[in-house]
Amino acid sequence: AALREVMIDVRGVSKSFPTRDLGMVKALNTVDLTIHGNEFFTLLGPSGCGKTTLLRLIAGFETATTGAIAIAGLDVAALPPQKRPVNTVFQNYALFPHMSVAENVAFGLQMLKVPAASIKTRVAEALDMVRLGGFAERRPSQLSGGQQQRVALARALAPKPRVMLLDEPLSALDLKLRKEMQSELKRLQQETGITFVLVTHDQEEALAMSDRIAVMRGGNILQVGEPREIYHNPSSRFVADFIGESNLLPGAILGRNPDVTVSVRPEQIAITPAIEGRPGRVKGEIASVTFLGLDTLYEVALPDGSRLRTRTREAAAPLAEGEDVVIDWPDTVERELLN
Ligand code: ATP
Repeated sequence: AALREVMIDVRGVSKSFPTRDLGMVKALNTVDLTIHGNEFFTLLGPSGCGKTTLLRLIAGFETATTGAIAIAGLDVAALPPQKRPVNTVFQNYALFPHMSVAENVAFGLQMLKVPAASIKTRVAEALDMVRLGGFAERRPSQLSGGQQQRVALARALAPKPRVMLLDEPLSALDLKLRKEMQSELKRLQQETGITFVLVTHDQEEALAMSDRIAVMRGGNILQVGEPREIYHNPSSRFVADFIGESNLLPGAILGRNPDVTVSVRPEQIAITPAIEGRPGRVKGEIASVTFLGLDTLYEVALPDGSRLRTRTREAAAPLAEGEDVVIDWPDTVERELLN
């Protein structure tokens, strides 16, 4: 692979906040992270893991307790947010209601003292980019939620930042619009070549959009990798469980060291009716059936009292609750995880 330009370099960054009882909460714990130019990078993790704090540190809205951040090769410690080559799109994108769409997009450029003549062109370019060319004179109140979100994106893109920081930008949208905007964001990143850093707690969204993902928990980055790598080779129990769905089996079931957990994805498990003499790894009984359209989820009760979740393509003869089954999976799909 070609050497890639380092766009954001986070070294040994910690961030502590004072708490009410005069203690401290460590939001980030000595984080190291490298984000490349022209990358769609996602910070993914549950609520409170520190992803927003990391984004705000990159943006310049917070100051690190320890460590250093460089953007495009420049240490940004002394730079306020507006002097950094980044722009942020927030969840509540707060357009100015009394301004037209074009005025909203022009606002940031005026702040940057861009000459009036080029503001006009850049606003038109930015609106075309988000496919709102015909909407320049409308007020935000005359737009749908998705269109308003596009205006916020155009406003952030117009100054041509090196980096776009996106803090859960789609979480206010309904599911259908959200999916639409996911591909829209992906397209914008690819067309502009700007580095996008997205914060989300939605693992599906992260898998669908990202070139690489950092999975965070409790102020630490647990794993960084491409979506497929993280999905197929989770490095820890937490990642296996947080990304997609996983059956976490104690090593003992497979006659191994009991300190090991083995992860098997529901869709990697073959499930067939128990017929006398049919070989299989484990016998079980179908405890529940959930029809999902393309797939069916079966929860299988095992002899030891545990449950296994499987996901299979909807078959001509679906299995029924209470039916005896054998389940199996190839050794190659097992992932051993440290506890
Ligand atoms: P969410 O998805 O809920 O926004 P997050 O992963 O973005 O969560 P952060 O907002 O970065 O998490 O918060 C990380 C930790 O730091 C949490 O324990 C949070 O309560 C704490 N924290 C964040 N900002 C502050 C602040 N300004 N003052 C005190 N504590 C804070």
